[in-house]
Amino acid sequence: MSLKNFIEAKKYIPGGVNSPIRAFKAVNSTPLFIKKGKGSKIYDENNNEYIDYCMSYGPLILGHSNQKIIKAVKKALYNGTSFGAPTKNETKLARLVVNALPSVDKVRLVNSGTEAVLSAIRLARGFTKKNKLIKFNGCYHGHVDDLLVKKDSTNTLIAEFNNIESVKKIINKNKNRIAALIIEPIAGNMGIIPPEGNFLEEIREITKNNNILLIFDEVITGFRVSYGGAQKLYNIKPDLTTLGKIIGGGFPVGAFGGKKEIMALLAPDGPIYQAGTLSGNPIATTAGIETLNILKNKSIYKKLEKNTAFLADNIKSNKIKINQIASMFTIFFNKNKIKDYKTAKQSNTKLFARFHSHLLKNKIYFPPSQFEACFLSIEHSKEDINTSIKVINSL
Ligand SMILES: *Cc1c(COP(=O)(O)O)cnc(C)c1O
Repeated sequence: MSLKNFIEAKKYIPGGVNSPIRAFKAVNSTPLFIKKGKGSKIYDENNNEYIDYCMSYGPLILGHSNQKIIKAVKKALYNGTSFGAPTKNETKLARLVVNALPSVDKVRLVNSGTEAVLSAIRLARGFTKKNKLIKFNGCYHGHVDDLLVKKDSTNTLIAEFNNIESVKKIINKNKNRIAALIIEPIAGNMGIIPPEGNFLEEIREITKNNNILLIFDEVITGFRVSYGGAQKLYNIKPDLTTLGKIIGGGFPVGAFGGKKEIMALLAPDGPIYQAGTLSGNPIATTAGIETLNILKNKSIYKKLEKNTAFLADNIKSNKIKINQIASMFTIFFNKNKIKDYKTAKQSNTKLFARFHSHLLKNKIYFPPSQFEACFLSIEHSKEDINTSIKVINSL
């Protein structure tokens, strides 16, 4: 059934998908077509039920089809879906974000993580009147031209994650030309890789001393690793922060925010233009507000962490290394410690592909690549986790 759907999709959509990872190429397979989701489970077009650890790549920290979100969204729908005029919900969501994130004085809402990043970069360049960017090998920031490069280019210089010397070298060679350094404070797009030692503190210091804006890309980590994101967890204040995924409660929302003197440069108050017809959409903001209001309850994060650690700690194999933090983890088919892009890339992707198909056969849905993060939601039960441990350990 899924294969038939995929063949039909390929007639009209490039590669049959609207985001490349969904095509299952990295596991040499073809995608399942999903009919519905409820709690921790998704159901394919053949009505097979899977325990989901992809969770739409991170947004669904409350699980699929959360009843509170559905109820609020249903109510909002009857009042109209878009006006292109201000609504009180935008202020409500912005206030929740500003109150949650220590470094954010003001925030602007957009429609995706990619859009948040490209707006933040544009703002950083306008504020510093400089052009170059530093990014880290293996970090992903959406399909922004200057941030998709894998080698140094005219505008972008590539540093290594968890390696402060690589950052110093770049800064010394490019004095007064670097507008911003962008980083996932906990890497999530080469598999999960937490920052080591004082790496983030040193990044904060060196950027400050060189008039380089520090951008934390918290599209995954915002409201995921704590209610205040990674910046709260590590107690570091970036100049700008980008958000997405969880803040939309399953709808397309992104945001970027930061210090008021930087945000003041945005139009209409300042000269840097940034706009969006559907930005701050009333339905999407309703879902975001419901989500953040539920997440305010700090015991949620404690329980998520406990469940995820239990899952990670009970996976036994000498073929793998697991990186886990809060409710995110990656199982690397690699015997060595994973601390940067180079070590992540040494993982055995063929073994991962076999593992992925073993999981699917046993009704467990992982993201289809060695280099993606797995996510738990508040709906993942002890039973789900115990079933998963058994299946994973039976490979
Ligand atoms: C997902 C992601 C993005 C891009 O967000 P989209 O909503 O997919 O455009 C940007 N940065 C990070 C860290 C992400 O994980």
